[in-house]
Amino acid sequence: MYDVVILGGGPAGLTAALYTARAGMKTLVLEKTMPGGQAALTEWIENYPGFPQGISGPELMQKFMEQATKVGAEFKTEEVTSVDFSGTVKKLTTNNGEIEASTVIVATGAQARKLAVLGEEKFTGRGVSYCATCDGAFFKDKKVAVVGGGDSAVEEAIFLTKFASEVLLIHRRDELRATKILQERAFKNPKIKLIFDTVVEEIKGESAVTHAILHNKKTEEKREEKLDGVFVFVGTVPNTEFLEGAIELTSLGYITTHSYLKTSVPGVFAAGDVRETYLRQVSTAVGDGATAAMAAEHYLAELNG
Ligand SMILES: Cc1cc2nc3c(=O)[nH]c(=O)nc-3n(C[C@H](O)[C@H](O)[C@H](O)COP(=O)(O)OP(=O)(O)OC[C@H]3O[C@@H](n4cnc5c(N)ncnc54)[C@H](O)[C@@H]3O)c2cc1C
Repeated sequence: MYDVVILGGGPAGLTAALYTARAGMKTLVLEKTMPGGQAALTEWIENYPGFPQGISGPELMQKFMEQATKVGAEFKTEEVTSVDFSGTVKKLTTNNGEIEASTVIVATGAQARKLAVLGEEKFTGRGVSYCATCDGAFFKDKKVAVVGGGDSAVEEAIFLTKFASEVLLIHRRDELRATKILQERAFKNPKIKLIFDTVVEEIKGESAVTHAILHNKKTEEKREEKLDGVFVFVGTVPNTEFLEGAIELTSLGYITTHSYLKTSVPGVFAAGDVRETYLRQVSTAVGDGATAAMAAEHYLAELNG
């Protein structure tokens, strides 16, 4: 029986673990893959305070992990598959058994949204990727497309110019959503070619990606573009399937939170990208992790009288 079980080992979960373990709570973090979350898949983070030159995502997350471990947080590589929040004792089922806790902090974050087009699934790992940091180096001197228009798409397009000979930045609108500073960098980069008003309609190939069908929504023109890779950055979806019916979620599947990051279930808190919130960044996930941890501590103190 743990005082607190934290679901997810990204920036929100690791910060929550640092605070609860430091507060003397018996703390367990359940992480289905490797700790670090989406931040560990990010090549370079320039907007996390304390690192004026920027820091690599994996290195920053390694430091988060070290700090949480040092204060006594326990870690298990297990995926939470269902929950039972009906009683005072919270029950969690994982791929490895059952775990009980007095309080739970859900910090399961989000994952890449898919394009949902023909060929995307077939060629995932064979030219289609959702992580430039992981796969960029496979595209040395190749031509790739980046789909999306937000900060992540533009950041990762710039990063991919380190390897690729040409990067097509394909966006369905007529202007980018990314911050001005990133847009300017992309406009200045001779390897990046912007393609507006366009969607990827199909990804084609044999053993790996060779082409994509691009559809210009303004002119209705369709054409086949020769490509070696397609990187998709069109937003994220929350990792909350295992919570359906147990906790209040928004229509898009994000967790609804109230003051002190309480959820609809007493003793269950939510932190980071998984909750309905205005901004989803490492800095906001960190703030959430700390708040949820202290709220969990307060709840436990009241429960124990
Ligand atoms: C390409 C890209 C670039 C980015 N660049 C920046 C940037 O420059 N600056 C910035 O501040 N932010 C950036 N972000 C956003 C930032 O990475 C996220 O806001 C942050 O990682 C959210 O942290 P989190 O802990 O809430 O969730 P996540 O990082 O998503 O971590 C959640 C963790 O929970 C685990 N998990 C999920 N489901 C389960 C389950 N059922 N059981 C157990 N474990 C589970 C996941 O494996 C994951 O490790 C970027 C994101 C992407 C994708």
